[in-house]
Amino acid sequence: MQSIRKWVQAIWIFLINGYWAFPFTGNMYQGPLKVICSPGLNCYSCPAATTYCPLGSLQQLLGGIRYSLQSGQYYIGTFVVGWMGILGATFGRFICGWACPFGLFQELLHKIPSKKYSIPKAFNWGKYLFLLFFVIILPLVIVDQFGLGAPWFCKYICPAGTLEAGIPMVLLMPDLRSTLGMLYVNKIMILLGFTIWSVFASRPFCRTTCPLGAFYALFNRFSLIQLQLDEDACTNCKACHEVCPVEIRFNETPGSNECINCMKCASDACRFDAIHLAIAGHRLGTAKKKPTIVPT
Ligand code: SF4
Ligand code: SF4
Repeated sequence: MQSIRKWVQAIWIFLINGYWAFPFTGNMYQGPLKVICSPGLNCYSCPAATTYCPLGSLQQLLGGIRYSLQSGQYYIGTFVVGWMGILGATFGRFICGWACPFGLFQELLHKIPSKKYSIPKAFNWGKYLFLLFFVIILPLVIVDQFGLGAPWFCKYICPAGTLEAGIPMVLLMPDLRSTLGMLYVNKIMILLGFTIWSVFASRPFCRTTCPLGAFYALFNRFSLIQLQLDEDACTNCKACHEVCPVEIRFNETPGSNECINCMKCASDACRFDAIHLAIAGHRLGTAKKKPTIVPT
């Protein structure tokens, strides 16, 4: 199962970053596919990106609302919000576990041999604060003389944007180098910080900072496709606690907002078939017969 997941993650990266002509054209892709919303965090300005980033588009939408009201255009971007809602309601955080390039980047870094550390649970609230302030409130409230707000998270924080767009664009376009300032240095430092942190802790950006993960987390308990616990089959052996990359105790909190639905607990830990995939509440596949535990 985990090798299938790695393949799915890799295929998604190539699907949403499939414009490999950019080193020759020197430009990013601007073709017809760029009206499609990428499910995971994937910078619009990545030269190879064929789709747009839901988080960047949401900030652009919110940042433009004041201008739209002042100019009497009353533009409401139902397309962006609608797509994000449909993706969240269908998949919840399966997107984080299976279709996010920056999630895979962190997973690969975490394979580097080193001492591993856990992340305090309180840090998990950070991503909701970034969603609230950097994606919603600041783009809405702080506007320029035309009434336009800035995409605060993309501009000041997003390490995925720095990795996928900031660094490649500077390499591709030498003219840009003379315009780089402290903002670029800060973003490189943030990327470097998460890169190092990912070696020592599992998926730190997803767990503490990612506003898109926070948005999908709101749907995790109610999404159409879910991981569910068969309480009758669970023996409370706690094997699932040992393998979870985000330190969840699945049998105690099934449907947790923090679960990225990687299915590692189901495929690599649970010997009792107590964790299963369900679509609209219906279990996929049939339950195995519960093994008899012989007392020793
Ligand atoms: S609880 Fe299971 S599916 Fe969820 S993140 Fe942990 S190992 Fe993955
Ligand atoms: S590994 Fe399976 S049986 Fe053991 S506690 Fe987790 S869900 Fe229950």
